[in-house]
Amino acid sequence: MDTTTDIAEALRARLAQLTKRVEQLDEDLRQPLNADFAEQATDMESGEAMEALEESSRNEIAQILAALHRIEEGSYGTCASCGADIAKARLRAVPYAIQCIDCARGG
Ligand SMILES: [Zn+2]
Repeated sequence: MDTTTDIAEALRARLAQLTKRVEQLDEDLRQPLNADFAEQATDMESGEAMEALEESSRNEIAQILAALHRIEEGSYGTCASCGADIAKARLRAVPYAIQCIDCARGG
């Protein structure tokens, strides 16, 4: 079975990966657009895709940091909204989940 320590380790590894990815994306997004018009259009499209990827990475980073904080506090595995236990299967699928499935769905 997963121990909280294992989960924390996995989350930190994922966090490092995401941080690296965001840094890389930041760097790519800062490149000046190519002067050639056709390539400029492609650059703009891939720029949008990179921005979307960067945004989702940043969201995940924020969720991981929140989960790590809750591990430190000892409240990991308890729904942040209703206080119910978060199902183990859910935590295995989404280790940084801080809400139970009902709250995550319904808000
Ligand atoms: Zn809940």
